Amino acid sequence: MSAYDFDLFVIGAGSGGVRAARMAAAMGVRVAVAEDRHLGGTCVNVGCVPKKLFVYASHFVEEFENARGFGWSATSPDFDWPTLRDNKTREIERLNGIYRNLLVNSGCELINGRATLVDANTVAVGDKTYTAERILVAVGGWPHVPEFPGSEHVISSNEVFYLDQFPKRAVVVGGGYIAVEFAGIFAGLGADTSLIYRGELFLRGFDKEVREFTAEEVAKKGVDLRFSSNIASVEKLEDGSLRATLEDGSVLETDLIMYATGRKPKVEGIGLEALGIEQAANGAIVVNDQFQTSVPSVYAIGDVIDRVQLTPVALAEGMALVRNLYGNQNQKVDYELIPTAVFCQPNIGTVGLTEEQAAERYSNVDVYSSSFRAMKHTLSGSDEKTFMKMLVDADTDKVLGVHMVGPDAGEVLQGIGVALKAGATKAVFDSTIGIHPTAAEEFVTMREPTRKAVKA
Ligand code: NDP
Repeated sequence: MSAYDFDLFVIGAGSGGVRAARMAAAMGVRVAVAEDRHLGGTCVNVGCVPKKLFVYASHFVEEFENARGFGWSATSPDFDWPTLRDNKTREIERLNGIYRNLLVNSGCELINGRATLVDANTVAVGDKTYTAERILVAVGGWPHVPEFPGSEHVISSNEVFYLDQFPKRAVVVGGGYIAVEFAGIFAGLGADTSLIYRGELFLRGFDKEVREFTAEEVAKKGVDLRFSSNIASVEKLEDGSLRATLEDGSVLETDLIMYATGRKPKVEGIGLEALGIEQAANGAIVVNDQFQTSVPSVYAIGDVIDRVQLTPVALAEGMALVRNLYGNQNQKVDYELIPTAVFCQPNIGTVGLTEEQAAERYSNVDVYSSSFRAMKHTLSGSDEKTFMKMLVDADTDKVLGVHMVGPDAGEVLQGIGVALKAGATKAVFDSTIGIHPTAAEEFVTMREPTRKAVKA
């Protein structure tokens, strides 16, 4: 019998922590999990899940419009924010309950409270201390809002899911996943929406053509895109509205300003410094490829290690860790070819290299691309377009990257991600029979390259 209270003490019941805890407990490991907020972490409570529900909600307005061309007529529909907000909250509470049951039924001891590290094998929660052979830090991240005059008047993605009132006008600041997704949500739900981004074009890191195409489509849907722009100060007016002064001196009046300017590891106050656990400049916990920190009995996974801030990556890290620690395996998480989607409108789905990266790494890259109006819109009258792109190493025929901007791009790209993981060549795509009529069939019927990728 171990001299410790637990074999594994998990700090944080988000996606990564819960998966690791459940898996370990199912293998007979004595596991405790400490959490001071809601179970399920960012993804379930203030991230992926409620965001996707809001994205669904925001699409309806277009569908009502599109339906007319198919013979449907209806009086103009009304949107009721409290119904959406409260139905969403009920669903999240249901999921919190499911997470609780999953943990408890798998044999984990759930401890309610904020845990701090006392030493390499001891954790304190409130006035109690617990010892464990190993400690797993899976505390996630937290929105980062820069400080400026009036920054106390802006909100982040933590607050946006619980607004008392839905704004008539909204400003979103940032050019990453969250900003672009929420610009679509606000606009779709009826707010006059502006997106302010400090760079020349949002979604830095994505394929440039995808970014340009997305900007055009997002603008077509009515979002006022302001690139090379930033807020200098915000002032609250007597009627409760906000006046933002931009760095170029122009002024924007609005009802809500949401900052989506990145997320930082949520490491304050958990005692990393006292144990001398190595951290990166932004606070992220530094781990080796076995997720072990500089203190060998302490491990970390998920957003707090700031490798790839995605739920499925945290799950993969948690599973690899547990298999290696308790299942006698030696797994490494493969961070290559991670498919991902941005749920803006229309969606972006992507896997593999961008054109810029492909041109940098390979000398002979064929670019296949296609942009078209989806069949549905021949009757709906919508001018929304779909864009698809594939990058192929012409020397080996290997597909290096696939990108799509269009309805359900995330759904389409999941399968393509499998194909790329399996090392698919362009010839494999070409020999695959299309599913007709779909937009996705375009990926197996791209016959002639559009051009060669050119190194910048
Ligand atoms: P991102 O890191 O993706 O983007 C942050 C944005 O804010 C960038 O455009 C950045 O500009 C800008 N920015 C940063 N600091 C400042 C500043 N001081 N002033 C003005 N602008 C600033 O962060 P998000 O918050 O959008 O999302 C966090 C992470 O969550 C994502 O990286 C992603 O991994 C994950 N996520 C995934 C989703 C999905 O899978 N669909 C959905 C939502 C989030 P610049 O480009 O110039 O640096």
